[in-house]
Amino acid sequence: MKTAIITGASRGIGAETARLFAKNGYATIINYNNSEKEAFSLKDELLAQGCCVDVFKADVSKFDECKAMADFVIKKYKRIDVLVNNAGIAQIKPLFDVSESDFDKMMSVNFKSVFNTCKIVSDHMVSNKSGKIINLSSVWGNVGSSCETIYCASKAAVIGFTKALAKELGPSGINVNCVAPGFIQTDMNGCLSKDDVDEIVDETPLARVGQPQDVANVILFLADEKSAFVTGQVIYPSGGWQI
Ligand code: NAP
Repeated sequence: MKTAIITGASRGIGAETARLFAKNGYATIINYNNSEKEAFSLKDELLAQGCCVDVFKADVSKFDECKAMADFVIKKYKRIDVLVNNAGIAQIKPLFDVSESDFDKMMSVNFKSVFNTCKIVSDHMVSNKSGKIINLSSVWGNVGSSCETIYCASKAAVIGFTKALAKELGPSGINVNCVAPGFIQTDMNGCLSKDDVDEIVDETPLARVGQPQDVANVILFLADEKSAFVTGQVIYPSGGWQI
């Protein structure tokens, strides 16, 4: 059985991705940091359907906690086939109001986490000469968004890191790709007004907001052998908002 670690899988895109992987036969590790109730309720839901799932609490901005999670998975399942770096936070603030600690937190949760997990897991994948790494960026990491300078910078960093790592790990049989969604209806966008959302829909050729499943399906494809010749790419599930 293949094993997949999904970071930030207690809610939103990560939870839906964990659901999809588990239902498609992966032993799935639901990582969470704060939302313990949601993570265990997802675990119970999937166990009741006969899936193989575990929950692991780790703040992915901390290297040692990522290492403990990888050690747990290797000890129990002897392998890590797929790593999905989904955990993330957002903040809307003019640069004028962004503090140094806002900057440090955003960069460590959204970007250092990707360094942490990739560094730890790639060692194991290189020994196995196989593996799939999928990192979550955002359309905003490509085009920029007013009052989200640090979020956009963290997501742009994920794109650069993904492309470089794809070149580095390709010869070892490891695919590294990036998924950069447009607007997806999750808690992360809970602060936006109906007018804001309507405006985004107006600018979207497919004329609707995205749902977590729209992103999870792309992530599953990138973990599958059907995408064996795809690496170093950025795929935008955005309904055509980003073309
Ligand atoms: P969300 O609903 O706010 O969920 C965020 C998830 O990340 C939660 O499960 C949360 O877990 C986890 N998380 C946050 N900090 C963490 C940490 N330090 N360690 C471990 N887990 C942590 O967000 P979402 O909309 O699903 O977004 C998921 C990813 O997609 C993010 O990287 C985001 O930037 C990206 N994205 C989202 C959109 C969108 O429109 N929603 C668009 C483009 C890209 P806990 O609650 O357990 O802490």
